[in-house]
Amino acid sequence: MKPAEAAGQPLLDLVRRQVDLGPRYPGSEAHRRLAGELAGSLEEHAAEAHRQRFTVRLPGGPAECGNLTGIFRPAETESPLALPPLLLGTHFDTRLTADREPEQASRARPIPGANDGGSGTAILLSLLPQLARLGREGKLAREVRVVFFDAEDVGGIGGLPFSLGAGVYAREPPFGPPGEVLVLDMVGGSGLELDLDGHAMDHPPSLELTRRVFASGGQVDPAVFRAAKLKHIICDHYPFLKRGIASCLLIDLDYPEWHTQADLPAAMSERSLATIAAAVLRFLQEPHR
Ligand SMILES: [Zn+2]
Repeated sequence: MKPAEAAGQPLLDLVRRQVDLGPRYPGSEAHRRLAGELAGSLEEHAAEAHRQRFTVRLPGGPAECGNLTGIFRPAETESPLALPPLLLGTHFDTRLTADREPEQASRARPIPGANDGGSGTAILLSLLPQLARLGREGKLAREVRVVFFDAEDVGGIGGLPFSLGAGVYAREPPFGPPGEVLVLDMVGGSGLELDLDGHAMDHPPSLELTRRVFASGGQVDPAVFRAAKLKHIICDHYPFLKRGIASCLLIDLDYPEWHTQADLPAAMSERSLATIAAAVLRFLQEPHR
């Protein structure tokens, strides 16, 4: 087994663990259980943890939701930190319906959400102890806030928008407004090649951040960070970008199993998960501009 595959194995295990809970759509028992586990891990590793509660009106009735967030502070330094606080986020909820399922009969069933919901959550979960350690060792170049957004994948269901939880967070950020935002979603598919969000083209601070993130990631795997596919994508970075905050999205929408019953660990790649985890960790440790 190659090193990247070996490094990705525990990440794929974290994906399997989520899928084994069952679909994590708001209101489900699996959603409640995963939220409890994520909150517990944030409480264990972050300097401070917070649950931002809100209610989502789904067609079946109201569902209790919550963005789960924690803060990691660098060791005290003499000089003020040159980089602003970074918000690192991903959604942990999964979609209630399988809109892209070819088989009509399976469309009404919730998706397993291995890559869509599971991949970013696995990577951020694995980074929590590492962030705590980097902070203690004085190797964190900046303050990092981690957030597991809720209610991202409710878009188009009962007239709801996408990224509802991220919108709540952007309006009332628990630790104050972040300086920059980095969001992961669907980063564990086989043959990963990240899209470039076209919204950043019209927002110079987001374009500058995107360039830095892709340049840094290109050092880990140039094929993944080729930045050759431009698409306009609404995801959890978007409510922040709309508020003028530099925001970057890491996503590959060219995932054939997207919003289908086949969004399972079998469609994913250990190598992809390991590449993104390594790229994020590298970016967080990059020296000041
Ligand atoms: Zn989705």
